[in-house]
Amino acid sequence: MISNRAQSISPSETLKISSLAKQLSRKGKSIVSLSAGEPDFKTPSHICQAAIKAINDGFHGYTMNTGTPELRGEICKKLKRDSDLQYEPSQIVCTNGAKQALGFSMLALIDEGDEAIIPAPHWVSYPQMVKLAGGQPKIVRTSFENNYKMTPEQLEEAITEKTKIVLLCSPSNPTGACYSRDELEALGEVLKSHPEICIISDEIYEYIRFEGEHVGILQSTPELSDRTVVINGFSKGFAMTGWRLGYLAAPQSIADAVAKIQSQETSAPSSISQKAGEAAYRNDLEAVHFMCDEFKKRRDFMVESLNAIEGVRCFKPHGAFYVFPDISAHLNKQTADGEEISNSTDFCMYLLEKQGLAAVPGDAFSEPNGIRLSYAASMEELEEGIKRLKEGVAALD
Ligand code: PMP
Repeated sequence: MISNRAQSISPSETLKISSLAKQLSRKGKSIVSLSAGEPDFKTPSHICQAAIKAINDGFHGYTMNTGTPELRGEICKKLKRDSDLQYEPSQIVCTNGAKQALGFSMLALIDEGDEAIIPAPHWVSYPQMVKLAGGQPKIVRTSFENNYKMTPEQLEEAITEKTKIVLLCSPSNPTGACYSRDELEALGEVLKSHPEICIISDEIYEYIRFEGEHVGILQSTPELSDRTVVINGFSKGFAMTGWRLGYLAAPQSIADAVAKIQSQETSAPSSISQKAGEAAYRNDLEAVHFMCDEFKKRRDFMVESLNAIEGVRCFKPHGAFYVFPDISAHLNKQTADGEEISNSTDFCMYLLEKQGLAAVPGDAFSEPNGIRLSYAASMEELEEGIKRLKEGVAALD
């Protein structure tokens, strides 16, 4: 009964761990969850006020399919202000979260059998979205030594005559790594000589940066603007995950194709959320900076504490709210009960069941040597999480 398309994809691994953690917690087990993919802050109040005003003003109807002209205007101003990128409002499509902008971009660009290059560790949804669009994910494994960033040589080697898309995510989920301008320029050089390839640049964590300024591929290599889709949204920077508001900025032909798909599948995002998004971009970023300062303190604590644990090594990420330590020294060991830990999934299941610590296995991101720990959690929870991880690995033999 179920289509081959639906059968070809798997459910989100990150959700699997967090639902198991919830189940154990309901049974009374003490659980520290470092598996969250959302800020542990509230949406700033001036943004909430704008939404309340929209409700009270009766702004209740459908908006234009691609979003209100006002919101798309604010997005264009923001792209100019922050990234010196020039877009017309007609090139912006507002969506139900960045997730939808990514999924619809792939539907608009990928034909049956096309390949999409995805550097790993990657956000869980990319390969599944590629498959849903009929394409083939081509996962490129990167190295811990290069902070899990794809090199120009790796990119060149992965390109075939079937390559249609290259996905870039900086700051990265799940590693927090950020590409520098030079690194993007080097990737851009490779892409300049393959004019048939489109680039999807996921910049949803743009505002969560601790060192240096955010740079996207179009700032390093503006020549790619006629085939690059920039993905962004409000979920992470403004702690607005539940509002479901994202967008893409793209060459007109791609924006038009996405708009056509959106008009048949969902129409525009919520009118109320769009008013909230307008307020987010129209005002200063004080609340964003406050959140970043907090995240930075936690990042420093996590990196230092992880590197002090036997057999764990972690580089210092410059963005997002994740660390991705390498735990490979603990694979192929046994638990006190004699169970084999043969991969990162076993490792995380062991941590959850024995130590009550929820982390996401690197296997979910195609990098078997690591685990993802989110520090979108209080300092007390982080301290307890580190304690449990330390005890867990000490008990392995
Ligand atoms: N891209 C990345 C890398 C993400 O981590 C997420 C959220 N986890 C998204 C896109 C989607 O964000 P949203 O749909 O909430 O805007």
